[in-house]
Amino acid sequence: QGANSRDRQLRERAEAVIPGGMYGHQAVGLLPDDYPQFFEKGEGAYIWDVDGRRYLDFMCAYGPNLFGYANPQIDAAYVRQLGLGDTLTGPTALMVELAEAMVGMVSHASWAMFCKNGTDATSMALTVARAHTRRKSVIRAKGAYHGAAAWCTPRPAGVIESDRAHQLFCDYNDVASLEAAAAQAGDDLACIFAAPFKHDAFIDQAEPDLAYARKAREICDRTGALLIVDDVRAGLRLARDCSWSKIGVQPDLSTWGKCIANGHPISALMGSEVARKAAASIYVTGSFWYQAAPMAAALETLRLVRETDYLERITALGQRLRDGLAERAQAAGLAMRQTGPVTMRLFLFDDDPDLRKGFCFASALLERGVYTHPWHNMFLCAAMAEADIDLALDSAEAAFGVLSRGAASLAPVEKLAFLSAGAR
Ligand code: PMP
Repeated sequence: QGANSRDRQLRERAEAVIPGGMYGHQAVGLLPDDYPQFFEKGEGAYIWDVDGRRYLDFMCAYGPNLFGYANPQIDAAYVRQLGLGDTLTGPTALMVELAEAMVGMVSHASWAMFCKNGTDATSMALTVARAHTRRKSVIRAKGAYHGAAAWCTPRPAGVIESDRAHQLFCDYNDVASLEAAAAQAGDDLACIFAAPFKHDAFIDQAEPDLAYARKAREICDRTGALLIVDDVRAGLRLARDCSWSKIGVQPDLSTWGKCIANGHPISALMGSEVARKAAASIYVTGSFWYQAAPMAAALETLRLVRETDYLERITALGQRLRDGLAERAQAAGLAMRQTGPVTMRLFLFDDDPDLRKGFCFASALLERGVYTHPWHNMFLCAAMAEADIDLALDSAEAAFGVLSRGAASLAPVEKLAFLSAGAR
């Protein structure tokens, strides 16, 4: 990014009118300096930054892009409905159709409520669980992300103790710590939140341990608390159902967002019969929650989910990427760990506490037109083809070369010094 690039100019202007220049998960402050902040457009599996450079995008908007940016079928459904009406005085028939389609897809659920962001859905899940049980305590895993409301935001600024009250923490996949948290909650347990797999930032991902998932279900059955699977990030990339259906553990509530309308703004809370009454009793709403156009987009997205082999294809592409990277890393003499499901992998290098190797690798890929992430899980989309994966692998081979030649002399990554300071 040259000093005169449009991206630099926009960043300077943003400094004046946007607090911190940029906020939230799309701020590039903790990415290598050459990562662009602003983009011009997206099409299929590719994005273009404001300086006209094209990237094969392995972040997929942090999840929402499942069937390709500007997907013609989904966007046509969206635009058609926009012409008829979007934000109206009441919902359209699409709301009922969408609830039916989602209930038909998610085996644990018999109802759905729609909202806008993943945080809306997780916060509603918490409220439903408390309304249902008339209890306060919630168990969730340390480091797991469930959104940006005061009860769950990872940053402490502006959050007060009472926002965080009645929360107990366990270690993901650690049965003993889950049992200890349940014991501590005693007869006050309202719910247990579970990520479908461990997808925390900065650390290796982990598949859910069956014993852990079953223990969570068992504690809820024993105490009457509700089990919540937060599928906002992983939903539809692991299964055409709640992600824990794959391991045979059914939650009472599940939360959905990101890709259910391929990037159009809609999220959902789904639940089983046991929680229906409580869900009907809480007051939740928003000016834009009943918009018809995102519902039209969601219906078209779900049709593609049902009628295409997208999941088998992205899984095969993920395996091709995984195997190809492992082979090339080994040939370059580099120890890279690839963790998490193949459609949502995270790459980390051994002996890389401040991620200087990861930054070097990611920057070398970016320079070659491949957008990856050095510390967050990535995402595959159905607009990718084998040729795209092969292009990424060619770029990775070159990037591994850059890394192995430069590994000994890489500068520390000051902005990630907090990682080596023991925060992990
Ligand atoms: N839960 C999980 C697992 C997520 O990954 C996210 C978003 N990254 C959220 C909840 C919150 O979603 P949103 O940013 O749409 O509020």
